[in-house]
Amino acid sequence: MSAGPRASGSVRPVSVAIVGAGPGGFYSAAAILKSGVVVEVDLIDALPTPFGLIRGGVAPDHQSTKGVSRAFARTAEQPQVRYYGNVEVGRDLSVAELRERYDAVVLATGMPLDRKLAIPGAERAGVYGAAAFVGWYNGHPEFRDLDPDLETSAVCIIGNGNVAIDVARVLAKTPAEMAASDLADHAAEAIHAAPIRDIYMIGRRGPAQAKFTNKELSEMGGLEDCSALIDPAQLPQTVSGEMSDRDRRVREKNLATLRDFAVTPDPAKRKRLHFVFFAKPEAILGEARCQGLRLERTRLEDDRAVGTGEVFEIPCGVVVFAVGYRMDPLEGVPKDERAGAFESRDGRVAEGLYVVGWAKRGPSGVIGTNKADGDLVAEQIQADFSNGHKPGRAALEILLAERDVRWASFADWQRIDAAEVAAAPAGAPRRKLIRIEDMLAVLDRASDPVTHT
Ligand code: NAP
Repeated sequence: MSAGPRASGSVRPVSVAIVGAGPGGFYSAAAILKSGVVVEVDLIDALPTPFGLIRGGVAPDHQSTKGVSRAFARTAEQPQVRYYGNVEVGRDLSVAELRERYDAVVLATGMPLDRKLAIPGAERAGVYGAAAFVGWYNGHPEFRDLDPDLETSAVCIIGNGNVAIDVARVLAKTPAEMAASDLADHAAEAIHAAPIRDIYMIGRRGPAQAKFTNKELSEMGGLEDCSALIDPAQLPQTVSGEMSDRDRRVREKNLATLRDFAVTPDPAKRKRLHFVFFAKPEAILGEARCQGLRLERTRLEDDRAVGTGEVFEIPCGVVVFAVGYRMDPLEGVPKDERAGAFESRDGRVAEGLYVVGWAKRGPSGVIGTNKADGDLVAEQIQADFSNGHKPGRAALEILLAERDVRWASFADWQRIDAAEVAAAPAGAPRRKLIRIEDMLAVLDRASDPVTHT
């Protein structure tokens, strides 16, 4: 295969490898294509299935958020773009090997792992990080075998962000409320058979400091079989302190929503969601497995939580902590240990090496926040290259063939997608395949031979 002139006269395309086919990767690919630079863009992902957090992170009942994958698919179908799924950078090939072969390498690897919960007992059975727990219910192959033991009447969820609220909602909703979701089968069985009645949402600071977006918080007030409960004594009358008008409005809106939640549970509903603020986790209680959570009451000093010395306990068999994310190091890429992200100057890591998304900024912002990162990296590549020098995909394919890596193309993903959609229960968008072997088996079974064109 030649990587010679293709798209325009004698200009040789700039070869770009994007590592990670989630929102950061796809927004970057789209912006690079639009930048006017003649390019070939290859998206490389560890899974045969593209879209990263859209498939494995966004809650299964928030299908409208997943709609952005249709725009990503249009990007993947552009003639200059190829998808190499089931190829793990760091296992099948290194960043250095990519840099030898591509003019530009963009890291869009996200933050797939849980930040540690640094309290005594956090290693006990029954304590799960949200990255793993969400990956489990979303059918991510890496977390499919988490197999959480949900034989408990009470669950504590630590954290006051949207991930914590996603977990609470998925545990609180009825099978009917989840019918139009793509909740993985194994998780639906476990969650809907579990005797969970009380879900505690634990915030170390107050309701005005919670990071929930209002749409997500409001949804908790309208659940079919779960009362959202608040102790009015924990709600301040007004939002105080220095902040932007926008932040003040967001906080006021959340307070108003919380005020509308009930003080006592609706007897007609089986489950209860308790918002517990000003409570700092101190220890996981129990012998081998979790039997409760010990907390210290806090008060605010300059918006920070300060312990008051008063402790209390919540009996529970499961704790899920949603306190942020981290990532493993990647050989050849410097990491800023304090920020937890790759070290970069506004996305520039080294010559021809860039970073976008959570791997650049840390784990904050919504899906669309990645668009600005994509626009910036496209500008940077445009400024750095007018002509390609390195062979890009031709050399990648030789390397993958030498190493016997079975990569999945975008057409392969479309076959997996079609198989999932065809197997969907009534009303659901798909029935997810949750093992890489099963995804590859779909490709083996495809009547037309698999060709990587
Ligand atoms: P987040 O919004 O940063 O929330 C993390 C929460 O964990 C905060 O409440 C934080 O409290 C708490 N926390 C951190 N360390 C703690 C500790 N040691 N003990 C107790 N609490 C602790 O992060 P996230 O929920 O993981 O979400 C990540 C990003 O994805 C966010 O930008 C979020 O909006 C986005 N997201 C969006 C959606 C959606 O739009 N539907 C869904 C999921 C995620 P402090 O504030 O006191 O530090």
